[in-house]
Amino acid sequence: MSTHHKVIVVGTGPAGFTAALYASRANLDVAIFEGQQPGGQLTITTEVENYPGYEHGIQGPEMMDIFRKQSQRFGAKSIYETITKVDFSVKPFKLWSESNEYTADSVIIATGAKAKLLEIPSEQTYWGSGISACATCDGFFFKGEKIFVIGGGDTAMEEANYLTHFGESVTLVHRRDEFRASKIMVERTKKNPKVKIITNAVVDEFLGEQKMGVKKLTHIRLKDTKTGETSVHEAGGCFIAIGHSPNSDIFKEYLETDENGYLITEGKSSKTKIPGVFACGDVQDHVYRQAVTAAGSGCMAAIDAERWLAEQE
Ligand code: NDP
Repeated sequence: MSTHHKVIVVGTGPAGFTAALYASRANLDVAIFEGQQPGGQLTITTEVENYPGYEHGIQGPEMMDIFRKQSQRFGAKSIYETITKVDFSVKPFKLWSESNEYTADSVIIATGAKAKLLEIPSEQTYWGSGISACATCDGFFFKGEKIFVIGGGDTAMEEANYLTHFGESVTLVHRRDEFRASKIMVERTKKNPKVKIITNAVVDEFLGEQKMGVKKLTHIRLKDTKTGETSVHEAGGCFIAIGHSPNSDIFKEYLETDENGYLITEGKSSKTKIPGVFACGDVQDHVYRQAVTAAGSGCMAAIDAERWLAEQE
């Protein structure tokens, strides 16, 4: 037995909720699958200060709760299951969670991306208490601090330069002595007097303190990859910029992705190569990755889906 919905949105976050809001307000029967992280990446950030309309900022989880409620106001149904398999070769499209089967006339993919992490235990200890994966989101909170950025790609270079607007100093740490980043970005970073670069080094441990129940990163221990020697550095903040991975694995059998796994959409639309399947948010955007751009693309996907469904009737 499968349950049918006119539109199924896979994944929550600004893109998924906005798609659900627009589609349900267009009087379509919409189910949104919240997945493993209901509300998406913003639920693991602290304050969002750059989403227009929230003059004084808002906590990420609270903002996603408002997005959810706004989509529910027009009838979108949140389902707290994770879609683990799809079949886009049949009509209606088929989707499976761990326990149930669903069908949909149109599918909007908004599964987002996740920041790659170093995967050392102390990273989790100080996550959100000095460690972040988004300079645009959190840089502001590190005014006057000694900031570290980990990575040697374009994101790390961009974040290091951006963070000089806030930090007393910014130190970029890279595991090799050659950079993956484009030459121009490396040059710009090297020329920036506020950025120091340490190569052939990895993070060995994040160190910190706990005062009155509040954890805070204070130091970072680096290990030289050539000599094995370790060194401890004062650090008020550390940004992990070692890449993102889009949550696109279950769609790869049917949809095109770029070399990094991001879903490819047609021109300025949210259309994938399968008519009736649309993609929005970070799963198809590795460039901007902002809540407001994700929400905008969710709106586009809902409008594209609505028009496509109307054409089918
Ligand atoms: P990349 O995959 O390009 O770079 C990741 C970096 O992190 C690499 O230097 C890699 O090292 C390092 N790294 C990966 N895993 C680890 C680990 N476990 N420990 C330590 N270091 C690690 O990701 P980006 O996010 O930088 O860029 C993604 C894409 O977005 C690229 O195509 C990039 O060009 C693009 N982009 C473009 C921008 C622009 O044009 N303005 C801005 C930002 C991104 P190693 O090199 O040794 O593998």
